[in-house]
Amino acid sequence: MKLLTHNMLTCHVAKCKKNNFPLKIVLANESSIHMEESDMNPDFIRHMIPKIDWRALKEAADSLELTGLPSNAPTPENVDENTMNALHHILMEADIQNCQLVCPNEECKRSYPVVQGVPNLLLTKDEV
Ligand SMILES: [Zn+2]
Repeated sequence: MKLLTHNMLTCHVAKCKKNNFPLKIVLANESSIHMEESDMNPDFIRHMIPKIDWRALKEAADSLELTGLPSNAPTPENVDENTMNALHHILMEADIQNCQLVCPNEECKRSYPVVQGVPNLLLTKDEV
């Protein structure tokens, strides 16, 4: 699961209406995050910047010790080279294999598994 995907995931439990984003990433172990080198596509990254929830991305990156993101979102026009490199690394190369995604809502705390890179957000009958 790429962090770009994580940036779009919220808790879907019917009763869980507030504070259900971003899901907290709890890695299964230290080797649960893979880095896959890929060629940078600056146009794609510029295109994605306005769609990203920056606070959620920054929080997720910090929790995984992926560094290099500024505190505030750049605009597609003013993104500097360091930030571009960090975004490429964090959004496109980091791939989370095994973890739990935990709802931040204190009254919910639903945990969703990510197994071999695939998040399972299916709910049980009484959660729908
Ligand atoms: Zn929830």
